[in-house]
Amino acid sequence: MNTAANQLTAEEIKAILRAADAIIYHGGRTLLAKILKGSKEKKVMELKLDQCPVYGFYKTWKLDDILLKIDWMIDHEFLEIRYDRKLPLIVFSRKGWQIQMDQYTDELLDEWRKWVRVGHQNPDMSYLKDRNREMILLLIEKIKESREKAFIPYLEVWGKIDYNKIKQEIRIAIEAINRNEPIDHLAVKAREEAINEALEVEEPVDLMIKCRGCLKRFTFSVGEQQFFKQKGLSFPNRCRKCRKNPIWR
Ligand SMILES: [Zn+2]
Repeated sequence: MNTAANQLTAEEIKAILRAADAIIYHGGRTLLAKILKGSKEKKVMELKLDQCPVYGFYKTWKLDDILLKIDWMIDHEFLEIRYDRKLPLIVFSRKGWQIQMDQYTDELLDEWRKWVRVGHQNPDMSYLKDRNREMILLLIEKIKESREKAFIPYLEVWGKIDYNKIKQEIRIAIEAINRNEPIDHLAVKAREEAINEALEVEEPVDLMIKCRGCLKRFTFSVGEQQFFKQKGLSFPNRCRKCRKNPIWR
């Protein structure tokens, strides 16, 4: 067995998810591998993928071995394949997105901290508009939890340009920081635990699926699951025999 496909560490999982975020719904596994390889190929440079923080994360690895790692991510349900016409594109699984959202909001928060240090005033906040709502709400939550007064001017600038729902959340965050309200440590802990749980690797096992046609259970092997995942197909709900039956076609 190739060592490249051995179980990935949490650090590797996070790095691959971070790289995937740069091409999500736009690129496939090869482009993802090229970011991690640190490729200088035209397409990579044109899309400015060299600016991704994990660009070159696997620079000493061969592209084929990086692809095996990406396939491992698909087999273990951190990433999924979706077909757009004929193109297989990389998308996040639920748990993959959960992990990426957590590390990405941390990244955005670090940037704000950097702004504070250099005294950056009046930043253009349009980069946060029209982003994934769930991610933005998590970001506001983390800003609120930071109780960092220096963030208030940024929140105010941001509040001016965003939609009402977000504006309202921003206002709540500003108030919490201003009043130095107690932090809900239990909520923070629960969130951290959920991320650790999402990072736990579960080895795929053969599944017993109840057929909707004949109502008998059939085995859907790890190998078959792998094939279906790589092809971006949802798992079957009918056994092989019933699938061949023209009634169900
Ligand atoms: Zn059946």
